[in-house]
Amino acid sequence: MTGFPILKSHRLEDVPDYVPWSLVKDHDAQAQRNHSGQTLERLAQRGGLGVIELWAVCHDMPYPRGRGHDEADPKYLNWLKSRLAMPPIAPALVDQRLRSEVLRKAPKGEMCVMCAENPAVALCHLPHAQVGFPAGMAQKTHDWNGAHLCQRCHDYADGADGRNDIPWRTMAAFRTIQRLFARGVLLIPGEDHADPDGIF
Ligand SMILES: [Zn+2]
Repeated sequence: MTGFPILKSHRLEDVPDYVPWSLVKDHDAQAQRNHSGQTLERLAQRGGLGVIELWAVCHDMPYPRGRGHDEADPKYLNWLKSRLAMPPIAPALVDQRLRSEVLRKAPKGEMCVMCAENPAVALCHLPHAQVGFPAGMAQKTHDWNGAHLCQRCHDYADGADGRNDIPWRTMAAFRTIQRLFARGVLLIPGEDHADPDGIF
C-alpha cells in the first residue's frame, strides 16, 4: 500500500493523499479506540482518516469533540506538514552488540557523569529501543552506549520516570562518550583529543 490515506475535505487545500505508514503504525490501539474497533488497515481500506482524526490518533488522544476543533485550524495542517517533512528513520544497520572489557571497566575510579557527587558504580547500559536499535534485541546494548552513573542516578535511570526521560539518558550517554575521548579510551586514529584536565 502506498501509505495511509487521508480523507479529502473540500474545505482544505494542500492536503496530501497519503501519509507514510510510519506516522501511524504505532497508534493502532488508539485508532481502534477512536473508531469503533477498526484497525488502521481497515480504516485505510475505507478511505483513511480526516486531518483531525489523524491528529488525534497520532497523539494517542480521543477525537476532540465540541467547539474549537475546526479542521481549517492551521494547527492541524501545520502539524501534518511538519511530520511529513521529517526524514524517515531507517533501521539500525549493524545488528550486533559490541562488547568491550575496556569500556566496561572504564567507570572504575570515575565520578558519576550526571551528578558528579558520587563514584560511578558500573557501566549502565541504556535501553536499545530508545537509541535506535531494534527493540527485539537483548535488553543490553553496545558497551559504547552506556553511562558512568552512581547508584542513585542508575536507580533513577531504571525507574519509572527515568526510563522515559530520553533527554536525560541521551545526556548521560554523550557525557560518557566525551569522557572516554578525554581519557584517551576512545581515539580517532591520527588525532589526539585527550584532555586529562577537562571537567570529564
Ligand atoms: Zn550520580
